[in-house]
Amino acid sequence: MRLRSITPLLAFALLSLQLSTVTVARDKAPPMDEAVARVTAEGAFATVDLLASPEYAGRLTGTGGYEAAARWVAEECKRAGLQAPGDFKGYLQPFMVRLGGLESSKLDLLPADDKGQPQAQAFFKDFMPMLQSASGDVTAEVVFAGFGITAPDMGRDDYAGLKAEGKVVMVLRGEPKDGRNWGAFDTTAAREANARKHGALAFLVVDQPVLSASGHPEGTMPAAMVSEDLANQILAGQRIKVEELRKVLEKGGTAAFPAGQKVHLTVKARPPQDRQGFNVVALLPGTDRKLSGEYVVVGAHLDHVGSWPSLFPGADDNASGSATLLEIARASAKAKERPKRTIAFVWFAGEEMGLLGSRHFAEHPPEGLRQCVAVLNLDMVGVGVGAYVAGGKNFPEIFKALEEARDAYAPGIKLMAGTSEGEARADHGPFQERGIHAVSLFGSGASHHGYHTPEDTVFFITPKSMEAIGRTAMAAAFALADGP
Ligand SMILES: [Zn+2]
Repeated sequence: MRLRSITPLLAFALLSLQLSTVTVARDKAPPMDEAVARVTAEGAFATVDLLASPEYAGRLTGTGGYEAAARWVAEECKRAGLQAPGDFKGYLQPFMVRLGGLESSKLDLLPADDKGQPQAQAFFKDFMPMLQSASGDVTAEVVFAGFGITAPDMGRDDYAGLKAEGKVVMVLRGEPKDGRNWGAFDTTAAREANARKHGALAFLVVDQPVLSASGHPEGTMPAAMVSEDLANQILAGQRIKVEELRKVLEKGGTAAFPAGQKVHLTVKARPPQDRQGFNVVALLPGTDRKLSGEYVVVGAHLDHVGSWPSLFPGADDNASGSATLLEIARASAKAKERPKRTIAFVWFAGEEMGLLGSRHFAEHPPEGLRQCVAVLNLDMVGVGVGAYVAGGKNFPEIFKALEEARDAYAPGIKLMAGTSEGEARADHGPFQERGIHAVSLFGSGASHHGYHTPEDTVFFITPKSMEAIGRTAMAAAFALADGP
């Protein structure tokens, strides 16, 4: 279009449009605008699609599928021009894990009086053995042991008065809601160890029956997750439901009793083996010589639960966070203005086995990095219209940085701050335990379809949510790494 043909009014409109564009851009610091815009829904989705493909076999730490995924991410970091920590070979931080695996499993419900037929229960609908379960074939009475916690120092014993020896122990996941920190007891591994200490032959956790890699890798007994429906059937003789029990337990009460039913649980597991897991770590070195030993971690767990018996793609959990992190890492490498402090992009291994990779990294940060000033972890950000920020209430300065970044670069999304006790739920936990200010962002406002089942596929991913959360996290990480 030639200028002469433009009417004066239109010319004025164009001119003012240009002027206002310039003003807005100046307010937002143009280099950051440009850098953040490189985090795209298309880029993130392409990575999710790849990581969730059969090529990486569900990315279980210690398997070839996981290692291939880690090496691919490392290669992408190299291609982007990011620095590998001096003491890590090729961006990889190895550590050992104990890896079990499932061959087959069966669970039957038996009538208390041994009359009538055993009722076979269905995979996923009624029960799912744990990936770290030991082999075994147990037929025994079920006893209910509340939250499965024994903590004399805190005045609680869920096993008080219960004879658990030679029985199948069934517990609820959860903790008393009394404001105290039960984090150390509220894990599958802790519950299972406590059941074993009380002489249990098998272990059941009442929860959505999904495949879980957490639990004790040296488990000496078969272990499974059971649905609330099946738990209610097991408790039917006692005329009490899980829902009612949960209320009592959350108020600080206890409930321990024989359920009055038997189960037959068989698990054929592979014997645990020592295998190598890898965190992937890439650095954007800080520009200020005095401050570059301080660093911000932007993290996401790369691992998932594998292929037992068929592929668990883990598209949302957590190919989404890993892909968003890779978008941030690539965009950061191209940023014209770098922050004063270093940013470490870390893909954690072993999250599903109990936050093993984040704990290892927090204990063994790369050479030359003295002090971690903030952690932003991305977990299951593949769906939603915003993010729940675990730890946002504990660390308001991080939440504020996220809100400001959101206002500038993703104003459509909602951020919600939550409290975190450094609980064993996500990879910010091991950092928080060490007094580091750390949060985890989870996609919120939509359901995480197929969580820990073969249905966690790319078909349920909403790419724009990764773009919005990625841009927000990147701008916040830069602000935190550059701040006072
Ligand atoms: Zn998971």
